[in-house]
Amino acid sequence: MKIISSPAEMQQTALELKRSGKTIGLVPTMGFLHNGHLSLMKLARPECDVLVVSIFVNPAQFGPNEDLDAYPRDFERDESLCKGEGVDIVFYPEPGNMYFSDASVWIDEEALSPGLCGGSRPGHFRGVCTVVAKLFNLVLPDLAVFGEKDAQQLRVLERMVRDLNFPVRMVRGPIVREADGLAMSSRNKYLNAEQRQQALCLKQALALAESLVRGGEKSVANIRQQMVVLIGTVPGAEIDYIELVDDETLARVENVESETLVALAVKIGPTRLIDNAVLHP
Ligand code: AMP
Repeated sequence: MKIISSPAEMQQTALELKRSGKTIGLVPTMGFLHNGHLSLMKLARPECDVLVVSIFVNPAQFGPNEDLDAYPRDFERDESLCKGEGVDIVFYPEPGNMYFSDASVWIDEEALSPGLCGGSRPGHFRGVCTVVAKLFNLVLPDLAVFGEKDAQQLRVLERMVRDLNFPVRMVRGPIVREADGLAMSSRNKYLNAEQRQQALCLKQALALAESLVRGGEKSVANIRQQMVVLIGTVPGAEIDYIELVDDETLARVENVESETLVALAVKIGPTRLIDNAVLHP
């Protein structure tokens, strides 16, 4: 397994691989890898000749009061996990080498980004789209795998690929959870034992929405209200948003009549966690 930290060397290597007819798969991550990330590598591995994992805590997608500096990092552990998944190249750039100090070109997706996480994190998807476009230009992947855990991110990036004609096949990886249902996340590291228990309310609220819909409930107002009540019973949990939106357009819906994405962000103490599910009426 090769570790490349220079963007120019990454691009040169990718160009040579492409010239020799190799297909390239990319799994972009911010590191501090867990089984969710590894599941994406397992999906990509048989689909490409050369598997690249990028590890980059992207400053452009963090707001001024967010956890950029505190974000957990452990490169040595990540490296050995990547080896275990048969990764060929880890691309591990320094922030200073990824962005020019006077960078002035950014990618703004305008339809799917404003709500949900984009509402609470202004500029977040601009940072995500821009870094993923840069990674695509440096790694030249034939396919890229992203997790359903970040449902809005996935849809925004699929739109970017469509609208800007990136020659990249986008693959969706299902959400990987802990045994008790908590969606795996690098940020779970911030939780103490009590908060770890409280964090189960995200998945419980989603399960409640799913069971209401299975029971024939269609009203988004009713479903949402019951989710709010459930989370309200958990001390230390503060709702950032709970939304039920059309799975494709991410526009709010009043009734669950077609595939509906139910997505939520909840703060457990200082830690903001997200989760989602697709409701099938
Ligand atoms: P991150 O390192 O959090 O930026 O995530 C990198 C990629 O892993 C993104 O495509 C995420 O959606 C995906 N991912 C993160 N957590 C999970 C999970 N629990 N299950 C599946 N994919 C995940």
